[in-house]
Amino acid sequence: MSEPKSSGSPRRVIPIAAEPQEESIRLYAASKKIYPRSISGVFARWRWGMVFLTQLVFYGLPWIEWGGRQSVLFDLAARRFYLFGLVLYPQDLIYLAGLLVISALALFLFTAVAGRLWCGFACPQTVYTEIFMWVEHKIEGNRNARMRLDGEALSMEKFVKKSFKHIVWIGIAMWTGFTFVGYFTPIRVLGLEFLQTQLGSWEVFWVFFYAFATYGNAGFMREQVCKYMCPYARFQSAMFDADTLVVSYDTQRGEPRAPRGRNVDHKAKGLGDCIDCGLCVQVCPTGIDIRNGLQYECIGCGLCVDACNTVMEKMNYPQGLIRFDTTNGMAHRWSPRQLLRRVLRPRVLIYTAVLGLLVVGMLTSLVVRTPLKVNVVRDRASLARIVEGGRLENVYRLQIMNATEKPQRYRISAEGIPGIAVATDEPVIAVGPAESRYVAVRLQIPYEARPPGSHVVHIGVREEGGSAQVSEKAAFIVPR
Ligand code: SF4
Ligand code: SF4
Repeated sequence: MSEPKSSGSPRRVIPIAAEPQEESIRLYAASKKIYPRSISGVFARWRWGMVFLTQLVFYGLPWIEWGGRQSVLFDLAARRFYLFGLVLYPQDLIYLAGLLVISALALFLFTAVAGRLWCGFACPQTVYTEIFMWVEHKIEGNRNARMRLDGEALSMEKFVKKSFKHIVWIGIAMWTGFTFVGYFTPIRVLGLEFLQTQLGSWEVFWVFFYAFATYGNAGFMREQVCKYMCPYARFQSAMFDADTLVVSYDTQRGEPRAPRGRNVDHKAKGLGDCIDCGLCVQVCPTGIDIRNGLQYECIGCGLCVDACNTVMEKMNYPQGLIRFDTTNGMAHRWSPRQLLRRVLRPRVLIYTAVLGLLVVGMLTSLVVRTPLKVNVVRDRASLARIVEGGRLENVYRLQIMNATEKPQRYRISAEGIPGIAVATDEPVIAVGPAESRYVAVRLQIPYEARPPGSHVVHIGVREEGGSAQVSEKAAFIVPR
């Protein structure tokens, strides 16, 4: 074959060696919109039950009054937390830490027993996505109608439906943001301020911030939050073992999969029970195919179980081709009773024991806790001085916090140095319900009761006519 000639000088043809093809890794993959098909069944009902329960608690709690005040209020400005009859001060932060540890342990326990129960049924992301999808379904129609609408050019019908959907979404998101802020500032006052547009800037900011987060996460991000943003999805596998209940496809029973008519004897044809209808994929809120095995995207919602059971019923096949099962259970074809026996394994028992101990410890400590807090601060302006009668005096500032819902009267005492006496303007200090008061306290000792230096004294505060009392350590300075 002759070489092709060009008009200029002949070009040398350099053979190019075939380069090995490098596989490119995409750091960002554009997501395909998922249009989950709605389905009814046991798990769908459980999911809706949890939506109602969690939202009843979330939206309802701040409106309940308790002892003339909002039952649950985290009053950050006043640095006081009210939980029904319980008044907590920043000094009680240990209870918050305890609550967080208990929540984490409970999550470990539930995950070890039944996988991602939290994700599928109670996580706010799941719950709000479910609510937003329900609105979408009601306004735009079923899966096919939604797909068709999104594929169409802009028309009046599309504009009206989309606008209406977004208005409803924004309404829900705003109410959610308002409720959230209502846990940190009295919700009735917040409502009035909203109506009169007299809001403080931080309240407006957080209402809109939380509303925006709800609107964005439940309306647009949806399964992306679970797949890419939630850390729990990544480390949950560390809490799974072969006896953890997870949504599983019974490959042994389902394969080989193939479509067939209802009256076909599929066993005679060597087919499994899966008719390859794809319904389990269409209902999945994260858009995965559980027949490919357990995937980190699976939030354990059980909707594919409902979908497949519907298909099995129509085909007159036994239910449970997709079911909650364990790896061991699936491999050994265990019955539900055998599965249940494996629940009580060492990991679960240890989590339960530690959790039980923590809960009992925390409840006991809450019951026996003294409803009185005292902070002692030395008055740095006057270290020590000699007062009338030749006595030596140190001045302190006491913050007395009444952690009860009733007005209280407290008496102050001191000990630690012979002859020490308390000199205050008020011998008994009155503090209102759930309030705190600063009082100046003067401690006096005989002039030569102690050599120069710092000496430990204890300042006691005792409830008049009650049993609450607190003793705080302080330093008494004797100058040279
Ligand atoms: S695979 Fe099934 S259980 Fe997992 S997220 Fe999808 S529908 Fe829910
Ligand atoms: S719903 Fe059941 S039958 Fe249909 S594809 Fe999924 S596993 Fe197969």
